[in-house]
Amino acid sequence: MSAIFNHIGFYDHIYKFGCDVKYYQATLCNCIASNNGHPSPTCDCYYGYRYGIAPIEGKLQRTQVNLKGMPEQMAMMLQGGCQITVPKQTKTLDVNGNSVYTDCDIFHLANIGDVFVIKNRHRRDRDILQKGVRDYLHAFDVQEIYSITNGTITYIEGTDFEFVKKDAYWSIPVNDAEDDMDLIKNKLFFGGEIIWLSGGSAPATNEHYTVEFKSEYQYIIWDDLSKDRGGDDDDLPKRFTCRLRQYINFNINPLDSLTI
Ligand SMILES: [Zn+2]
Repeated sequence: MSAIFNHIGFYDHIYKFGCDVKYYQATLCNCIASNNGHPSPTCDCYYGYRYGIAPIEGKLQRTQVNLKGMPEQMAMMLQGGCQITVPKQTKTLDVNGNSVYTDCDIFHLANIGDVFVIKNRHRRDRDILQKGVRDYLHAFDVQEIYSITNGTITYIEGTDFEFVKKDAYWSIPVNDAEDDMDLIKNKLFFGGEIIWLSGGSAPATNEHYTVEFKSEYQYIIWDDLSKDRGGDDDDLPKRFTCRLRQYINFNINPLDSLTI
């Protein structure tokens, strides 16, 4: 017999102490099939994943990953990462102040490759873009650009480039405009695009450049630990090991087989 889990106590705990999270669902990009199981470096997806569905907001628990005793490669990958615990139900209050418990959609949906963005927790992040190939950021909810550099050259916002925030980068027209789900499905959410201004300096076409920017903490689900508690209680929360979503060069990164 397994121990009995105090569901309501846990839901109340998350209501009080959980952090506000935006959850983005990922779909696998089909470039993986034609590239020996690895994301194609020339594809516009995020390392094999596409994010086309509007985020779901929720309150979840974020804790530290225990890196002790982990193989070195895995520990490197998960440095700065976290564990996200998702309750099966979410507590809200009704108009009279009574607790109401409803099913948490994230609990049923969360899977490897999905992204959790921690609301209102900002950090300096960076990405390496390629002029004319990828001039947009993969990060969601980018607040501002700190700098764009190419070696020792620094480009000036307003003179050399402009940053355009984008919520939807790509959208396929659908026949049935009444069907909102189709419209949402076909959107891809990104942080924004770098527009190089005519008359200003710019990297040469195909040249790489570095962008430093401010955005919210974003974690990608790397492992699903739902079953690691050993209990047979269907109402147990689910736990996911997540790594910080950041720039990785698949061409030289020795950990590439671990990342998807
Ligand atoms: Zn792709």
